[in-house]
Amino acid sequence: MNREQSKLAYKEALQFIPGGVNSPVRALKGVGEQPLFVGKAEGAELTDVDGNRFTDFCLSWGVFILGHNHPQVNKAAMEAISNGTSYGIPSLQETELARRVCESLPGMERVRFVSSGTEAVMSAVRLARGFTNRPVIVKFDGCYHGHVDHLLVAAGSGAATLGSASSAGVPGEFVSHTVSLPFNDREALQTVFREKGDRIAAVIVEPVPANMGVINPADGFLHQLRELTGQSGALLIFDEVITGFRLSPGGAQETFGVIPDLTTVGKILGGGFPAAAFGGRADIMSRLAPDGPVYQAGTLSGNPVAMSAGIATLQLLSEEGFHANLNRKASRFIRRLESIAAGKGVRINSQGSMFTLFFSDSEVNSFEDAKQTDHAAFGRFFRYMLQNGFYISPSPFEACFISAAHSDGELCRFIEAFDKFFC
Ligand SMILES: *Cc1c(COP(=O)(O)O)cnc(C)c1O
Repeated sequence: MNREQSKLAYKEALQFIPGGVNSPVRALKGVGEQPLFVGKAEGAELTDVDGNRFTDFCLSWGVFILGHNHPQVNKAAMEAISNGTSYGIPSLQETELARRVCESLPGMERVRFVSSGTEAVMSAVRLARGFTNRPVIVKFDGCYHGHVDHLLVAAGSGAATLGSASSAGVPGEFVSHTVSLPFNDREALQTVFREKGDRIAAVIVEPVPANMGVINPADGFLHQLRELTGQSGALLIFDEVITGFRLSPGGAQETFGVIPDLTTVGKILGGGFPAAAFGGRADIMSRLAPDGPVYQAGTLSGNPVAMSAGIATLQLLSEEGFHANLNRKASRFIRRLESIAAGKGVRINSQGSMFTLFFSDSEVNSFEDAKQTDHAAFGRFFRYMLQNGFYISPSPFEACFISAAHSDGELCRFIEAFDKFFC
């Protein structure tokens, strides 16, 4: 496979952009590769600047549940553009998307739009602290909540492969109110609530973590979170930036039947444009400016182009059986991968249409487990799949995604390549 143009593009990018990329994992360092420069994407297919084609299982990190370049989403965005691209004044699209988000997610009574998942989480945490008048935030090792200073403690995703639990540039004082616990550890949770319960503003969690690879919550774990936060007057925040609109129309909160006080969503929400949101109980959301004392704002928040793409996306997702069909297709695919992987030192963790291949002989139920898996073998697998025309998420600390656009043929070819890898 000739990748000369990508190599040249990378060299040039390095002269102007740190590491040549605008988000670290894209550099593909963790898997011993050089970044791909994409020229075009359509359905489940990426075409790089050399004209090589790849079936995409990363899908802009989970954004494109409908596949790239969806005609109806594009049409909505184009129509919006023809009316001007930003007003800084309310538009009808904002209320329309807000209504759809509130109708979709069981815990969402009021919602406010922002431009990135990081911003959504940052705002939700500030609101939780403002509402409870308490300082402490409990998170879980390996959960990633964007690059918010005080949440960069044992963060997953790209921060995990940086080799340090946190980040330079975050003073110790900034994280002094952040407690990070092992995911799925019910005892650690009880202990922290016993010791600090009346000082905890919120527990924030990816209900199905996808940023340490996909990890499933142990039976009753999310219910325990709900119970302990409720008893102590702390808020429960579900970071559904990945799982929202993916696992089901109502995200993980619908799938697991646990309703948080606040929820963050992103990725799928903007239909490929920068949009994210946080929201939840009306009494909590009313503490936000202009009604309340918790400040939060944004120049491009509720951007009409992003809102329009989001409306078109949620409209398509609300079609009868959308999630059931996607999850069924994914589950058939994953079961076939599992039958090949059996006895070969590979574990496949999955939930709905997201999955992670871990090179490990034992189960992977926490960040500690994920760190113990064979990262060199994952790197070999990534390079092999890339060579064979598949772009999977380039780290064992990330999830792969299946979209409605993946054809049976594309999934079959993936299964064949996966099988051959072990020959
Ligand atoms: C991607 C992600 C974020 C951050 O969103 P950005 O739009 O990249 O800032 C936050 N939380 C979770 C769970 C995510 O997957």
